[in-house]
Amino acid sequence: MIPAPSLFPSLHLELPAWMADYVSKASQWTTTREQRMAFVVSLARMNIQHGTGGPFAAAIFRLDTHELVAPGVNLVVASRCSVAHAEIIAMALAQQRIGSHDLGAPGLPRHELVTSCEPCAMCLGAILWSGTGQVVCAARDSDATEIGFDEGPKPLDWVSALQQRGIVVTQDVLRTEARQILQDYANQNGIIYNSRQGFAP
Ligand SMILES: [Zn+2]
Repeated sequence: MIPAPSLFPSLHLELPAWMADYVSKASQWTTTREQRMAFVVSLARMNIQHGTGGPFAAAIFRLDTHELVAPGVNLVVASRCSVAHAEIIAMALAQQRIGSHDLGAPGLPRHELVTSCEPCAMCLGAILWSGTGQVVCAARDSDATEIGFDEGPKPLDWVSALQQRGIVVTQDVLRTEARQILQDYANQNGIIYNSRQGFAP
């Protein structure tokens, strides 16, 4: 176990250095939903190619102009932080960028979360609290669990639970491409972590 450096630690989550140049170029073509997802899926692939995290990525876009507000990739292992899922990173950085804890605050444009995989139980809750107006997903829960990840105790009707609160959900956008990244990660023996550890019967 890594000893804590102090009894009063701080938490600093930072996107990998490789993302800066790539994001500044690729974010110029995000007009269609498929383009926005292709951008996010490419982030997931590059995250495992660079060894900077798990096979997941996400981003927040403005719904009116489709401008990228903030990208996110999975940083769990690298940052030693179990909540550092891609969706959490993207939503938190978007909130920092717009200067509000609420992406749906009055006077702001509506925002869209585009994610390479359907949200886990934790991210589902975080989406509700984030103020995002739409969620677009690529890989399904079953694609993640197939390689050993665990989405946690999520309601089976999570899509309607979000939609009942005014959050529009779109599934299966570039699912095949995102699922392939999960498979590639498993094939290269990437680290699999999940909420079942320590609780297996
Ligand atoms: Zn998650």
